[in-house]
Amino acid sequence: MGPLTRLAHNENPLGASPKAIEAIRRAAVSASMYPDPSGYELKSAIGERFGVGLDNVILGNGSADLIQLLGLALISSDEDEVLVSDPCYPRYRVTARVGRCRLVQVPLNANMKHDLPALMNAVSERTRIVFLDVPHSPTGTIVSAESVRALVARLPPRAAFVLDEAYREFAAGDSLLPDSVELFREFGSVVGLRTFSKAYGLAGVRLGYGFCPAWVARAIEEVREPFNVNAIAQAAGIAALGDQEHVERTVALTHRNMARLIEGLNAIGLNTTSSKANFVLTNLKRPAAPVAQELRARGIATRTVEGSRLQEYLRISVGTEQQVEAVVSELDDILRFCN
Ligand SMILES: *Cc1c(COP(=O)(O)O)cnc(C)c1O
Repeated sequence: MGPLTRLAHNENPLGASPKAIEAIRRAAVSASMYPDPSGYELKSAIGERFGVGLDNVILGNGSADLIQLLGLALISSDEDEVLVSDPCYPRYRVTARVGRCRLVQVPLNANMKHDLPALMNAVSERTRIVFLDVPHSPTGTIVSAESVRALVARLPPRAAFVLDEAYREFAAGDSLLPDSVELFREFGSVVGLRTFSKAYGLAGVRLGYGFCPAWVARAIEEVREPFNVNAIAQAAGIAALGDQEHVERTVALTHRNMARLIEGLNAIGLNTTSSKANFVLTNLKRPAAPVAQELRARGIATRTVEGSRLQEYLRISVGTEQQVEAVVSELDDILRFCN
């Protein structure tokens, strides 16, 4: 059997930008030195690109690190609440657990989207953090900027609103898509989280960033490890930001192969949610775990949705054309002949 076909983590099938790889090589020469703890150059590059001041940029060892740092910085009592959708990105749950506070989960609506009115109803005086990923994982669905703004406008002042934009680049062409840079300017409690792991193809380097009001940046500063973003990641991030062509190539390839993947799944009788990210969620109409296990035995890694009601759903990353063909054909075979 050949190498594992990796369709479980929404990685970039084109790999990292050649410019980022070159920057990593150059940075390796200085590996004996501690990184810049302030991440000044990288923050400047991010600030410049998105028109945000340095005091409003945060950096993390992946955006997963920033999710946890937000919990450490903002949760102070076991009566505090973290509000998320169900299902949600697993780090949000861990953040509430590590903070020893309450996790409040609100099911997605019938269209598999964040249920913003129900989330609003679940907000209380104890809500400290609302995590909302748009596009949402594992469904890939989005909610409109307008509906997000309506929720944020009604949050109590002590509740931070975190817009996780891990898949933003794939959906950026959609005029409905919320934008954390706009939101954090308008409201004093909005945090935007972005990552170099998906469209930029640097998942292995671990680099996330975000935008937030200065008070949140200061609160994170008090709890983070000073060298949480290593020197190689800082160099890679600067180079990757400077290679938007690579992001554009990635997004174009993803859209093309997403269409192929959906068409292939439809042809074998499977529906998908309307994903704006770089993966699809498909309803197998039977328990997904054994199917994922069989796919894995055949050399293809995909993702089930643990700990949720979506036990019959499988998440498949959009890979190369060849990978798309392989996963559809193996799925077809498994669904036909195995039970
Ligand atoms: C992948 C992902 C992240 C980012 O992961 P990092 O690699 O830690 O930057 C954040 N949120 C969601 C919803 C994701 O799917």
